[in-house]
Amino acid sequence: MGRIRLLAWWVQMGSVLLFAVSCMVDRDRITEDPFLGEPAARRAVGQLANQLLSADRFTRLEIEVVYMEGFRPTNQMLGEMVSFLETYTHKPDGVIFREREIPALGQQSYTVQELLALEREHRQRYNERNILTVFLLVVDGYFSRDDEDTFALGAAYQSTSMVLFGRRIVENSGIIRRPGRALLESTIVLHELGHLMGLVNNGTDMVEDHEDEENHFHCDNSSCLMFWAVETHRVLGMVNATIPPLDVKCRNDLRANGGR
Ligand SMILES: [Zn+2]
Ligand SMILES: [Zn+2]
Repeated sequence: MGRIRLLAWWVQMGSVLLFAVSCMVDRDRITEDPFLGEPAARRAVGQLANQLLSADRFTRLEIEVVYMEGFRPTNQMLGEMVSFLETYTHKPDGVIFREREIPALGQQSYTVQELLALEREHRQRYNERNILTVFLLVVDGYFSRDDEDTFALGAAYQSTSMVLFGRRIVENSGIIRRPGRALLESTIVLHELGHLMGLVNNGTDMVEDHEDEENHFHCDNSSCLMFWAVETHRVLGMVNATIPPLDVKCRNDLRANGGR
C-alpha cells in the first residue's frame, strides 16, 4: 500500500515537474517568437513584409509617430498612409495612429546609430498578440550619409522603423518650383512603407523581374513610387501635383506576398 501511494506521489510529482518544464519551454518560445517584441523590431528592412501585408499573423496595425518639436507631420500625410495601407494590406481590425512630440535635439545630422538610440528611448509599442506596430520618427536634422550631390528625405532602417528628415522636408517644400510639404512628406513616407513591405526584391519576391540593377531594392520604372530617386533630392523635380503610384509590377509583388 505504501508503495502504491509512493508511486502515486511520484506520478503526481512527475506531472507537476513536467508541467513546470512545459511552462518554461512555452515562455521561451514566446520570447523567441521572431515576430513579437523588440527582437522582431530589430530585424532588417523587409523581414516582416508578409506580416505587414497579410492578416495571417497580425490583423491590426498601430503606427507610432514620434516627432521632434516643430516637425509634426501633416494630417494629410497621416491620411495618405491610411489609404495606402488599406489599399495594399489586409488588416481587418484596423489601422490606428499614436503620436507624440519629443524635444528637438538641434543636431545638424543623425547617424543610423543615433536613430536606433532614439528609437530605443522613445518607441513604446512593439508587436504583440494580433497587433503589428510600425515606428515613424521625424527628426529635426539631416541624414549623416548625405553628400554634396545627394541627400535623403527619409529612410526605412529596420523591419518596422522609418525616419523622415524633417528639416530637409521643410526646406524643400512650399516654395516656388517645389512641391507642397504635405505632398512631399506623403510621397517619402509611402516610399518607405513600400520598403517595409519588402519592395523591391527585399523581403517580397518579385513576380516579374523589375529591380533596378544600379539601385538595389528599387523599381526600374521611373514613374513608380519605388523608383530610387523618390527618396532623394531628385524627387523635387518629379513630384508636382500627385504622389507617384505603385506600378503594376510592384503591386503584383505585394499581392503575391499576402497583400491586397
Ligand atoms: Zn528607397
Ligand atoms: Zn514599381
